[in-house]
Amino acid sequence: MAFHRFKALETVLSRVPLDVHMPNNKVSEFFGENVFGIDAMREYLSEEGFNSVMAAMEQGTQIDRKMADQVAASMKSWANIKGATHYTHWFQPLTGTTAEKHDAFFEPTEGGRAIERFGGGQLVQQEPDASSFPNGGIRNTFEARGYTAWDPTSPAFVIGKTLCIPTIFVSYTGEALDFKTPLLKALAAVDKAAVDVCQYFDKNVTKVNATLGWEQEYFLVDDALFNARPDLAMTGRALFGHIPAKGQQLDDHYFGSIPDRATSFMRDFEIESLKLGIPIKTRHNEVAPNQFECAPVFEECNLAVDHNQLLMDVMEKVARRHNFRVLLHEKPYAGVNGSGKHNNWSLSTNTGKNLLSPGKTPKTNLQFLTFFINTVKAVHDNADLLRACIATANNDHRLGANEAPPAIVSVFLGTQLSNVLDELETKVKSGKMSPDEKTALKLGIGKIPDILLDNTDRNRTSPFAFTGNKFEFRAVGSSQNCAGPMTVLNAIMADQLVKFKKDVDALISKGIEKDEAIFQVLRECIVESKKIRFEGNGYGEEWVKEAEKRGLSNIKTTPLALGAFVSKQTMSLFERNHIMSEREQHARYDIYLETYTKKIQIESRVMADLSFNHIIPTAIKYQSLLIENVRGLKDIMSAADFKKSAQIQMEMIVEISEHINTIKTKVDEMTEARKKANSINDVKKQAIEYCEKVKSYFDVIRYHVDKLEILVDDESWPLPKYRELLFTK
Ligand code: ADP
Ligand code: MG
Repeated sequence: MAFHRFKALETVLSRVPLDVHMPNNKVSEFFGENVFGIDAMREYLSEEGFNSVMAAMEQGTQIDRKMADQVAASMKSWANIKGATHYTHWFQPLTGTTAEKHDAFFEPTEGGRAIERFGGGQLVQQEPDASSFPNGGIRNTFEARGYTAWDPTSPAFVIGKTLCIPTIFVSYTGEALDFKTPLLKALAAVDKAAVDVCQYFDKNVTKVNATLGWEQEYFLVDDALFNARPDLAMTGRALFGHIPAKGQQLDDHYFGSIPDRATSFMRDFEIESLKLGIPIKTRHNEVAPNQFECAPVFEECNLAVDHNQLLMDVMEKVARRHNFRVLLHEKPYAGVNGSGKHNNWSLSTNTGKNLLSPGKTPKTNLQFLTFFINTVKAVHDNADLLRACIATANNDHRLGANEAPPAIVSVFLGTQLSNVLDELETKVKSGKMSPDEKTALKLGIGKIPDILLDNTDRNRTSPFAFTGNKFEFRAVGSSQNCAGPMTVLNAIMADQLVKFKKDVDALISKGIEKDEAIFQVLRECIVESKKIRFEGNGYGEEWVKEAEKRGLSNIKTTPLALGAFVSKQTMSLFERNHIMSEREQHARYDIYLETYTKKIQIESRVMADLSFNHIIPTAIKYQSLLIENVRGLKDIMSAADFKKSAQIQMEMIVEISEHINTIKTKVDEMTEARKKANSINDVKKQAIEYCEKVKSYFDVIRYHVDKLEILVDDESWPLPKYRELLFTK
C-alpha cells in the first residue's frame, strides 16, 4: 500500500521533540571521550609506544611490527572499556560514503573455544572483500584485491560497540582506491613546498599543516514525509513538486529561532560528535525553510576531512532517533536554496603562524603576500581542475542557479588586498630597484592592517573568496567528501610554491637580493593571474559575459567539467608532485563519470515510475470525477444552461488530458533515450549522452506533473507537497 501523504502528515503532527540531556554540564568533561587520542594513548601506551605513534603522526615515520602489536593491544583494552566488541578498518572509497566491515575481537581456537585477539597485524592491514567498490578497472587488470592500511595520523574511535580505525584503501599494486591516499600525499607535498618557501622568512619553520574548517549545510525532513516521497528516498531530491505560495522570499527562516524538534536533534548529534572529538561549535538556520548549517572549529586538514565524513554519518544515525531524515543532497528542492559545504582553508606553521594571516611588520607581510599571491596564481592556473573537483550530478543543480557560486571559477580578494596587488604590480621594477624604491614598497605592505576590513563587507557570490585570514572554497557540494577538493587545492598550491621557489632562487643566483627577487616573482604572478580576480556579483548575468570576454571557462555540466582531471596539465601536475599516477587519475575519472551516469539513470527511472504509478492514475481519477460531474449537469440541465455551466469542467478535462499525454509521451521518449545511452560502451560518451539526451527530459516532465499537482483535488494527491516538506514542524 502506498504511504499516502495524509497518513504521513498525521504522523508528523503527533510528533513530540525527544528529550536529550547533556551528559554533563561542561563539554570539556566529555569531549573526545570516544577517541583513542593523545590522553588515552598516554594512559594506555608505554612511553615507547606513545612516542612511536606521535612520531608517526607528526613526522610520518613508520611504526614497526613489534610496536604495532603493542599499540593494538592497548587500543583494544581501551576500546573494550568503552564497550567495543568489534573492530573495523574505516575507509573512504570513491563511492563518497565511508565503508566499514566489522570483525569481532575474538577468534575461534581448537576445541570449540575462543580467544580475544587483536594484534599489530589486524591493526596495520586488512583485506576487505572489496570487489564491489569502484576501482575504475584498476583491480581487474592486476590482482583482484585491495587492502586497507592504518593511517596513524587520524585517531581511532569507538562508535556504538565498534572500534573504528581510520585507514587508506589501496590496490595490491599500491594504487589509490580511495579519497584519503591522494589527500595524504597532497598534504605532504604542500607541507614540503611551504616549508621550503618559509625558509626565506623564518628558519624555525619545519612543518606546515593545511587547515580546513568546513561548514555543513543540510535539510531536515520528517521520516514519515520522506517515506511517502519515493523520489526523496531513492535519489535524495524531490523530482517533482510545485513551488508553494510561500517559499523563502520572506527570509524569515535565516538565523531565526530553531524549531524545538530540530534543536533537540542538533543537541543530540552535537553531543555524539563532541564525544568523537569533532569540535562542532556553530549551528544556525539557513536560507531555505527547514535548512540548517553546522560548523566546527577548524583542524588539520586530514583530521577535518575524517571528522566531516564521520559527522555526516552521525547526523544520519541520530536523525533516525528523532524521526528525521537528513538531506545532504546539494539540491533537494528545486526553486529553493541548495546546500553547500564551504571549505575554509589555510596553511599553518609549527611556529604557530597562519600563513594567510597578515602580520604586523613588512617582513611578516611579505610572507603573507607570498602565500596569498601564490594561492591566487595556483587557482588561476588550475581553474578547470578546481571546477572538476566539485563537479557532481547533484552539484550541477546548485552551481550557477542564482543562489550558489557560478560554474565559473574566480577569486575574490576584497578592496584592500586588490589595491595592494595593484600597487605591487606598478611599483615593482624588473632589473635592480633603487633602495628608495624598495623602502617605499616595504612601507606600503607594512600598512596592510592585521585585521582586514573586507572580512565584514565580504562577497558571498564568489566560488573562492579570501575572508581575512583564510580562503573559502564555496563551490564544494554539501554531500561531497572534502578530501577531493582538498587534494586538488593542496596539490596545486604545492606545485605553485615549488615553481615560485625555483623562480626566486634563479633570480637570487643572478645576484638579485632576496626580497627583491621575491617581489619580482610575485609581480609576475600578479600580472599572469589577473583575469581570475573578480570582486563583483558572481550571480549576475553580466559576469557570465565578462568572464567570457576574459577567456575564463564556464563549464556547465559534470561530464565535461570532469575532463580537467585527465588533461595533460593535471596529469603531469599530480605526477611530478607524487600525488597520483596517470593510471590512478584515469581510473578516478572513469569512476566519476560512471557515478554521474548512474545517478541520472536512477533519477530517470524513478521519474518514470512515479509518473506512471502515482501521477497519471491520480490525474485520471480526478478527471473521471469531472466527467461524472459534467454528465450529471447534462442530465439535469437545459442545453443552454449546460453549455454555460460545464464549460470550466470541460476545459479542465481537456487540460488534464493534455498533461497526461505529454507526460506519457515524454517519459516514453526518455526511456528510449536511456536505452540508447545504455548501449554506449565508452564511459565519457555515455555520461555526455545521459546529460544531454536523458536529463534533458526532466524539466519538461516535471513541468507537466507540477501543473497537475495544482489542478488535481488536494485530497487525492498522494505525494507530500513542498509546503508540507518545508513547513510542517
Ligand atoms: P564565518 O562564520 O563568518 O564564515 P569564521 O571566521 O567563523 O567565519 O569561520 C568560518 C569557518 O572557517 C569555521 O569553520 C572556522 O573554523 C574556519 N576557519 C577559521 N580560521 C581558519 C583557518 N585558519 N583555516 C581553516 N579554517 C578556518
Ligand atoms: Mg563561511
